[in-house]
Amino acid sequence: MTVCWLATATYEDVAALDRRRAVAVLPLGATEAHGPHLPLSTDVIIVEAMARAGAERLSQRGATVVVLPTMALTPAPFAAAFAGTISVRAATLVALLEDVADGLAAQGFSRIVVVSAHLDPEHLGAVREAVETIRADGLRVAFPDLSRKPWSQRLGEEFQTGACHAGRFETSIVLAERPELVRDIRTELLPNPASLSVAIRAGQTTFAEAGGPRAYFGWPADATAAEGRTLIDALGAILEEAALPLLHDD
Ligand SMILES: [Zn+2]
Repeated sequence: MTVCWLATATYEDVAALDRRRAVAVLPLGATEAHGPHLPLSTDVIIVEAMARAGAERLSQRGATVVVLPTMALTPAPFAAAFAGTISVRAATLVALLEDVADGLAAQGFSRIVVVSAHLDPEHLGAVREAVETIRADGLRVAFPDLSRKPWSQRLGEEFQTGACHAGRFETSIVLAERPELVRDIRTELLPNPASLSVAIRAGQTTFAEAGGPRAYFGWPADATAAEGRTLIDALGAILEEAALPLLHDD
């Protein structure tokens, strides 16, 4: 019935929550190049919109949801050659996620949903590894990996082609959330249908190798704020659905 944003709560707010039954949502973003038209924090903006939409849905079901501060520095080797991208080692993220889970457990939390709008394969591999360990330690944890079915099928046509970095999908969501951060050049960007999923399967490791010399893929000029709002709703529904198995009592 409550959504608590940990960063703006006081310790007394948190002390008053039923933490054992609460769902802790941990959003993961990135600080990486997103074309010439979107900010480096694009994945942070998207994952926070997802967390908000999902938390609202869960609270309507009667759950207490605690949204943690977003992790904005994660592995981003595909974009590492572009100015402003800050990439950390996969092992650093694994250790940090495990430590955060230990911290949550020490505070009495037992249910965690990890959500990530950042899709770099090294990053997702680190998240999967940490989630396995956290689960083995006895916490209930869900991680809807947006790069995989069934979730990927709910995020529009462009997303499924794999041309899903700074294209129509991501640009639409930033237009809905932070329109003032989308640069006008986006309407002049030509489509780049090169698929990152195909590139990853072929062993390529950078946006340049994958056919994205300006760090964007897909159809950014086709983005709209209205589509962004629909996509945020779809992301919220994914968070909700992934969290449902955690909600039942022991
Ligand atoms: Zn992104």
